[in-house]
Amino acid sequence: MKITASIPSVKEVTVDVPSNITVAKLKQILCKKLKIEQDLTKLLIDGIPLKENQKISKIKLKSKKIEIDYLWSRQLILWGENGQAKLGKSRILIAGAGAIGNEAAKNLTMLGIRKFTIVDYDKVEISNLSRMIFFDKSDAGKPKSKVLAKKLHNKYAHLEITAIQGKLENLPLEVYLDSNLIVSGLDNFASRFFLTSISRRYLIPLVDGGITGYQCRVQSYVPPNDPCFICPITREQYGNLVGLRNPCDAPIEEAKTPSLPTTISLVSSIQTQEAAKILLGYENYLKTEKWPEKTGQPMQGIWIADLKYNKYSLLKLAKNENCMVCGKHGEARNTVERIDISTQIFYSNDLRNKYLRKMFPDSDEFTFFKMSEGKPIRIDPNKILKKDLKTGDYLLVTLKRKSEYIEAIIRLK
Ligand SMILES: [Zn+2]
Repeated sequence: MKITASIPSVKEVTVDVPSNITVAKLKQILCKKLKIEQDLTKLLIDGIPLKENQKISKIKLKSKKIEIDYLWSRQLILWGENGQAKLGKSRILIAGAGAIGNEAAKNLTMLGIRKFTIVDYDKVEISNLSRMIFFDKSDAGKPKSKVLAKKLHNKYAHLEITAIQGKLENLPLEVYLDSNLIVSGLDNFASRFFLTSISRRYLIPLVDGGITGYQCRVQSYVPPNDPCFICPITREQYGNLVGLRNPCDAPIEEAKTPSLPTTISLVSSIQTQEAAKILLGYENYLKTEKWPEKTGQPMQGIWIADLKYNKYSLLKLAKNENCMVCGKHGEARNTVERIDISTQIFYSNDLRNKYLRKMFPDSDEFTFFKMSEGKPIRIDPNKILKKDLKTGDYLLVTLKRKSEYIEAIIRLK
């Protein structure tokens, strides 16, 4: 029998199915056709859910259509199943599980992100609870990253979360390479410098937010061509910011930042939408330098708001050719090419050489390192045993191009 079903305002599908199947089987067929998840979908008629074990022949359809009620159906109106699937496959690194980390994790999850790595070195304090929705009094003293991961998972069982208690600077490189985007609430200059450098070098977009009392700001960095976070900083300011200017000075007592839940939710909402725009359009942008019309372009500059005086502005930035990160002598002046190679190709001497020559013309002297907990270990690909490498592993490759040695990252798939 022919059955027509629709996700309202998105799509209508007609399927031809045997009349003795159950509603559950029909749902399975419809979800497969629409590329949406069965466990997040219900079938309804006139707003009433159909019983999953009921035979479809028993449903009084007449001229009525079956409505497909899917968790993210309202977003499909904006960017379709393919856009939603792209969000679902992305992994976001949340740098800082504090106020912004809590709010951003909530927003990103509700948007359909399913994979997170949450990093924070800090522990929960009672004064955090005014702004951090996932923490309770009983969490005081526990690591923020782990508590946030656990609470998110309790509420949304479909999430895949890795929680790390530690500093961003100490993370193995693989953690960054696994991430499609970084959302941060960085409160110190050294971490901003470090993350911006990682972001540019490995082409991992970064969306940062911050608040001070009534004021707040958001900044998106889309590598490699945007002005980066460090572009506006001169070398002289850099010395002051990292505290190197007067190394003999006594340390200043750590001042507490005035904070409000309102500025935090505003900032993290804007960050989340920026993250969505970038995840949905970055692949296209890298190929064509254009952002998809449907989902929009990330902000260019720093968005600043002052909720006390109701002032909102976008501060434009210029690219600084002497920037300490992205400038011509900057730490991340070269971006690292990233390619995927199947293990089958990698293990064959001929195929590997052919593939690498195609990917890196004018280059030779390839040297391979296996990445292990952030440390590169040199390997001879002709001698390494198959059991030593697996799908998903990263290899660092150095290669000679003209007179310069450059780096590339290979992921085995
Ligand atoms: Zn820069």
